[in-house]
Amino acid sequence: MTDDDTTIKAQQALADARFTTYWLDSLASVDDEAPLQQDIQCDLLVVGGGFCGLWAALQAREQNPERRVVLIEAKSVANGASGRPAAIMSTSVMHGIDNTERIFPDDVAELERLGRENMDGFRDTLERYHIDCDLEWGGEMKVSIGDEGLQTVEEEYQLYLKYGHEAVKLDREAVQAEIHSPIFHGGTWSKKRCGTVHPGKLVRGLKRAALECGVQICENTPLLTTRRTADGIEVATPRARITARKVLLATNAWAAGHPHISRRVAAIRDRIVVTAPLSDAQMAKIGWQHRQGIYDTRTQLNYMRLTADNRILFGGRLDYFYGNNTDPAIDKTPQPFIRLVKSFYRTFPQLVDEIRFDYAWSGPIGLTTRMAVHYQSYYDGDMVFAGGYSGFGVTASRFGARVGLAILDEQDIPETRMQFARTLPNYIPPEPFRWIGARITMYALDTLDEKGGWRKLWVAMVEKMGFPITL
Ligand SMILES: Cc1cc2nc3c(=O)[nH]c(=O)nc-3n(C[C@H](O)[C@H](O)[C@H](O)COP(=O)(O)OP(=O)(O)OC[C@H]3O[C@@H](n4cnc5c(N)ncnc54)[C@H](O)[C@@H]3O)c2cc1C
Repeated sequence: MTDDDTTIKAQQALADARFTTYWLDSLASVDDEAPLQQDIQCDLLVVGGGFCGLWAALQAREQNPERRVVLIEAKSVANGASGRPAAIMSTSVMHGIDNTERIFPDDVAELERLGRENMDGFRDTLERYHIDCDLEWGGEMKVSIGDEGLQTVEEEYQLYLKYGHEAVKLDREAVQAEIHSPIFHGGTWSKKRCGTVHPGKLVRGLKRAALECGVQICENTPLLTTRRTADGIEVATPRARITARKVLLATNAWAAGHPHISRRVAAIRDRIVVTAPLSDAQMAKIGWQHRQGIYDTRTQLNYMRLTADNRILFGGRLDYFYGNNTDPAIDKTPQPFIRLVKSFYRTFPQLVDEIRFDYAWSGPIGLTTRMAVHYQSYYDGDMVFAGGYSGFGVTASRFGARVGLAILDEQDIPETRMQFARTLPNYIPPEPFRWIGARITMYALDTLDEKGGWRKLWVAMVEKMGFPITL
């Protein structure tokens, strides 16, 4: 089949797709909480209704039920990345064990321990509040595309062994026994405390739990400005003001709350397509009995998982739009998803002629040079931005929010003394250099593996700035 034929096939397969997130579209709609209408005061204001904001509000009330906690969300809860991820759950709180070793080599053992503790706390919380969100503990698996990625999966396997994970290394035959893709030549499968979750159900469950715990949630209430007053931090919203003793900004890729935040956070888009539910015969063609969350080793990597109704969710294809645009119109059309569908075809050629895509969407990733949560303090520490989870925030956000609250409350706990909580990721150049740099980088990444050449030099330069492109 020529490349043109594949493009036509991809267009046809996307013809009936809905350009919205499957996770929310497939749930019954719920009413938003009322927007803020009158001036109020509170002890803690949380801004942003994604995982980070919801975990922060919930944990703040659990820690101190006397505390008045308010959460405001510009649109509806789960409007951002939290309503749109692949939702592969990782034990890592720093974007994977390999990234942890890259950014905090002296703290890997402790961060891994904290990650395991976080997953136990995550699970306990879901049980305590009866949050049913299709949890599947199939593990996370990194697969080598061809032989080129075998070294990467070997290194990851060694890290897993070194830091006490229950992991297995898979040769070509073993990986094929797990999932039938001709391009997977090996893998590392971490089996404990990780897997997949339905993020729409999770976010809704956390919202309910936060409300039950006494958090006041105001949706359709964007933060407009902030300023210090004698009474605290004053946050203006369209109809009313909030005076808060402390403010936690959980605005991720929007970097809302202070103009300086985006100096270290770029709003990258990541894209996902979701197939129609697979028949039993189609499932037999791919195997995937253990239903792991899977990442591959390509430079422009793909990740994939199954949904509870046996759709394949397939993601990847980063992009950047001028001015940290968090919702580009182009992502509501088939065109930007064609390359992703072609990657799907290469991964599962046995399904090419019989698969259609019901959903395609993109979501904003708050990218930093560390690719992991960091904290920016404003107004003498009374307002803290917690975010930048990049592509690993579904469960890490519980940990990130907990430490963010501790920083805000000036608690002297071991976590707040660690390097990740005390230091910042690098600056990212402002526009127009950010846009120009991102466009060249995306282009270089698309063709790096096949063509090399100047792309390698460019990518090496971007890595020098702190971005871990070839992790
Ligand atoms: C396509 C994609 C795939 C991903 N896959 C995975 C995965 O498999 N595993 C994983 O662990 N992670 C994954 N992630 C990352 C994960 O989804 C995020 O790290 C996580 O959801 C971040 O949560 P958050 O609360 O920090 O941000 P968000 O969920 O983005 O929440 C920020 C909120 O702030 C609100 N807001 C913005 N400005 C204002 C304002 N002025 N006033 C009030 N509210 C405001 C926004 O509306 C938004 O709701 C993925 C992300 C994407 C986009």
